[in-house]
Amino acid sequence: MSVPFVDLYAQYLTIKSEIDEAIGTVIRETAFISGKYAAQFEQAFAAYTGQKYCIACGNGTDSIEMLLQAMGIGVGDEVIVPAISWISTSEAVSAIGATPVFVDIDPEYYTLNPALIEAAITPRTKAIIPVHLYGQAADMPAIMAIASRHNLRVLEDCAQAHGAMVGGKMVGTFGDCASFSFYPGKNLGAYGDAGGMTTNSEEIATTARMIANHGQQGKHNHLREGRNSRLDGLQGAILGVKLPYLEQWTAARIAHAARYTELLTGATHLALPATRPDSRHVFHLYVIRTADRKALQARLHEVGIETAVHYPTALPFLKCYEHRGFTPAQFPVAAQYQHEILSIPMFAELTEGQIQTVIAALKA
Ligand SMILES: *Cc1c(COP(=O)(O)O)cnc(C)c1O
Repeated sequence: MSVPFVDLYAQYLTIKSEIDEAIGTVIRETAFISGKYAAQFEQAFAAYTGQKYCIACGNGTDSIEMLLQAMGIGVGDEVIVPAISWISTSEAVSAIGATPVFVDIDPEYYTLNPALIEAAITPRTKAIIPVHLYGQAADMPAIMAIASRHNLRVLEDCAQAHGAMVGGKMVGTFGDCASFSFYPGKNLGAYGDAGGMTTNSEEIATTARMIANHGQQGKHNHLREGRNSRLDGLQGAILGVKLPYLEQWTAARIAHAARYTELLTGATHLALPATRPDSRHVFHLYVIRTADRKALQARLHEVGIETAVHYPTALPFLKCYEHRGFTPAQFPVAAQYQHEILSIPMFAELTEGQIQTVIAALKA
């Protein structure tokens, strides 16, 4: 049996009639840009995350940029980001003219290490972007304490962690604002690019919404230059259909992860993911570590099991940051883990048979 890394079509089949109807309705009503279905989704997602405002937008990279701008961050400012994330986290900081300052991850939970943040703070530091990586919540209580001590803004990058929690509290509700991605493969995914910004701050919400729609407040009243980053009506309608299933899909991911962990415990050649105490890890990815990743990945591929690496190069060591001259000694955990991490198949529709196939191959 072959096992795909993720199977978006399998999920579509479980909700096909609702999705097809929603798409038909948007086309019939020509509600293509923003409009009713995007607005309905914004309200539903704000309620899901427990925040007052949700502003849907084009993707989860724009959302980070626009939230930074809405908080008044820009040229000359520094923003702290973790050394391991998808490039959007640091790219968004550079895109608005600020400088990303990388901080290593903690070796146990793979998220921004709070113990290293204060050494990275300078008079130019304006904000911290913790990333809830792989679906695991960052250490928000510790990060918020540091931010408040140094008067820094906190933007949570929740792209991989819809519904993750710390101490019973949803990610995205700790900082000043939060960014979500609804890229198709994320835990809540559209059928194209889509993103969202959530906050309890009316000021951030109003400014972010304005930026996302050409700086307009009302039609043709451009209070500033913004951009075009709105949610398609089709994506809004699709996300609206999918959101009510998110909790059940999350529960399935957590159950699959528990099964993997149960069956892999004792496999000494593999390091298994840990879940932070008193938190809900939503397993966007199930990431193991192994000393000989290349061989393991090739062997799994031979027997039809697809895996991926998130990410093969830690952010400071990417070609685009070469000019900053970072060395592995500055980020020892990220430098080591980038060579060892391997993401194995994880999606809500995984079957017990598929899990058994993956486990058997990993143990062989
Ligand atoms: C996917 C992702 C993003 C960006 O989302 P897009 O919608 O693809 O632009 C940002 N941060 C992290 C951590 C991500 O995984």
